[in-house]
Amino acid sequence: MSPRRLLGPAAALVALVLTSACGSGLGGSADSGKVTVAAAFYPLEYAVSQVGGDLVEVQSLTKPGAEPHDLELNPRQVAHVALADLVVYEKGFQPAVDDAVRSEARHTALDVSAAARLDLTAADETESAHAQHDDHAAKDPHFWLDPLRYADVGDAIGAELGRRDPAHAAEYTSNAKAFRATMTTLDRQFRSGLEQCRVKDLVTAHAAFGYLARAYGLTQQSITGLTPDAEPSPAALADITDRIRRSGAATVYAETLVSEDVARTLARETGARLAVLDPLEGITTASAGRDYPSVMRANLATLEAGQECS
Ligand SMILES: [Zn+2]
Repeated sequence: MSPRRLLGPAAALVALVLTSACGSGLGGSADSGKVTVAAAFYPLEYAVSQVGGDLVEVQSLTKPGAEPHDLELNPRQVAHVALADLVVYEKGFQPAVDDAVRSEARHTALDVSAAARLDLTAADETESAHAQHDDHAAKDPHFWLDPLRYADVGDAIGAELGRRDPAHAAEYTSNAKAFRATMTTLDRQFRSGLEQCRVKDLVTAHAAFGYLARAYGLTQQSITGLTPDAEPSPAALADITDRIRRSGAATVYAETLVSEDVARTLARETGARLAVLDPLEGITTASAGRDYPSVMRANLATLEAGQECS
């Protein structure tokens, strides 16, 4: 699409090698004439694929099955960031992507965090004594688990694609509208499915479900903070065990991409069931569906059972 830009120093050499040697379409204006997009992680990749349709060629920087929080980029991926017509990312979520955008894609990146209206912080998530101290000021990045925020991000992606590819702006707008319709339907299903639940406390592995909990009247009690790799301290574990007992939560939710050991232990200690709730940070063969809407519908069924909703 766009004329090749000046590359940052890190990517220039790699890009040269890639374009001369492989011509695989990894990065750079595709021969197909499609808009090439580097999406930072799965929900952004899915939104771009839906809103861009056949007009875009999107690749995720986070490989399927990889946990996106601690993503590191290899030189080839940095080149992809440098050469893509558009990079769609969420500032503050993946430091390696932030760095690559700063050095390689300053003028070709869309940060979705404004459209996602990130307004929860670690401190809001639970009244948590156990949130990691330096997590406190950090914004909760997991906007996509609230379908209506996700729809807003779809609109922002549509608008940005329209700016970069004005000839097809109307198509992007109409695709974004269809994306919103899907999300609105999901939102309605969640709203009615979670309206009458005996258990309001939602005990999750990492604090990915804050926006979802808030949208549908639940209170998240997470075992770790906003990132899944932080091991809870013994004090934090005692605290969450106590909360689970007091709240009468019947289910502790583990995740697909991270170890379920801690959740399993907590469930055993408190007599709660163990179920899997998918934060949709990546799709794998272990996922309960092939894409965002199907996994979200599976999440809803899991929640209806786990929170004892009628
Ligand atoms: Zn997460």
